[in-house]
Amino acid sequence: MSTTLAVVHADDLGMDYADHPADRRRHQLAVALARDAGVLDHPGVALVPAPGPMADDQLATMFAPAFIRAIQVFSAKPVLAAAPEARQWGVTPDVHPYAHMHHDSARLAAAAWLAGRMVGEGTALRAIVPAGGAHHGLPHKMNGFGVYNDTAVAVLALRAWGIRRIAYVDLDVHHGDGTQGFFWDDRDVLTVSVHESGRYLFPNSGFADEIGGTGAEGSATNLALPPEAGDAAYRRAMAEVVEPAVRAFAPEVLVSQCGVDHHHADPLSHLRTTMPLYPDLWQSLAGLADSCCGGRWVALAGGGYDPCNAPPRAWAMLMATMARVGVPQHLPAEWGVVARAAACTSPASGWLSEDAPPDLSGTEAAAPAVDEAIAATRAASPLLG
Ligand SMILES: [Zn+2]
Repeated sequence: MSTTLAVVHADDLGMDYADHPADRRRHQLAVALARDAGVLDHPGVALVPAPGPMADDQLATMFAPAFIRAIQVFSAKPVLAAAPEARQWGVTPDVHPYAHMHHDSARLAAAAWLAGRMVGEGTALRAIVPAGGAHHGLPHKMNGFGVYNDTAVAVLALRAWGIRRIAYVDLDVHHGDGTQGFFWDDRDVLTVSVHESGRYLFPNSGFADEIGGTGAEGSATNLALPPEAGDAAYRRAMAEVVEPAVRAFAPEVLVSQCGVDHHHADPLSHLRTTMPLYPDLWQSLAGLADSCCGGRWVALAGGGYDPCNAPPRAWAMLMATMARVGVPQHLPAEWGVVARAAACTSPASGWLSEDAPPDLSGTEAAAPAVDEAIAATRAASPLLG
């Protein structure tokens, strides 16, 4: 095997809702930054063009055929999604159908399948889909901003290539409810989600007592953090929940959803993490992949809705970590030009710099609730007892 990291990408990959937080610049600028920082030029890294959309018959092995047909109908005639019956397929104002919605989501599914396949068959040690991470979707329903859940597709692709035990780690600020739902009764897929508590944030699930279905108890682990928990809580989450749970489960491959919508400047959440946390999160995942899985790791990016700020830098650093290469000390000047051309008026000046000082005044007050949350998760999980 010569490829350490396959980056499955196309600038026009991903959902294309108009005037919406799921802005394609998030992954376009991440890949541009990885390129300008020299990560993509490394001999162990392959930029793999995202394939065309997944065929209907293959989609139907993972998603309900009636759901796929409904999405195709809404894509052909978006006005039909205004009917009350559309709600059964998960249509909401957040995920209003548009003309290429089926195509765009089926293409994301194909990209995630290819990433899982490359790692499963051994043509790459690791693979990432920077446009991926739609972790809310269910087999029969869209949810959150995605349609066909590409994180579940990556897991199922590994399965198709004979990988039995898979650990899925979800660091997005929102609970990975869709992926958890896909594998709720599957004792060979561990889902671990660290997120802002569902008491305060969509999708209002992901509590400590969600541990998996009958016969699969322990296959789901959830850590619901309080608002303003901050970097220290995420670091403790890795050391006290994610790492021990994954090690106890002993997977063959690690899959991760690496959303950074917990960043303090993100418009959708309240956890207040900062840039210096992210390289530590990626190192923690890399350590797990190395110690449990012979290095094998599939990553999807995920949430992060401030396209000029945290997401491109966080995910470029993720690609560097996955490829086992460093990044230059300073952000490349070329990237600033690309970011300005993408209407980012003041692109970041350093890898870990903050546009505005984070307001961390509530972090200390949140510490007792973080203690309680971690204790509740550890008490509930059969893997952590
Ligand atoms: Zn999110």
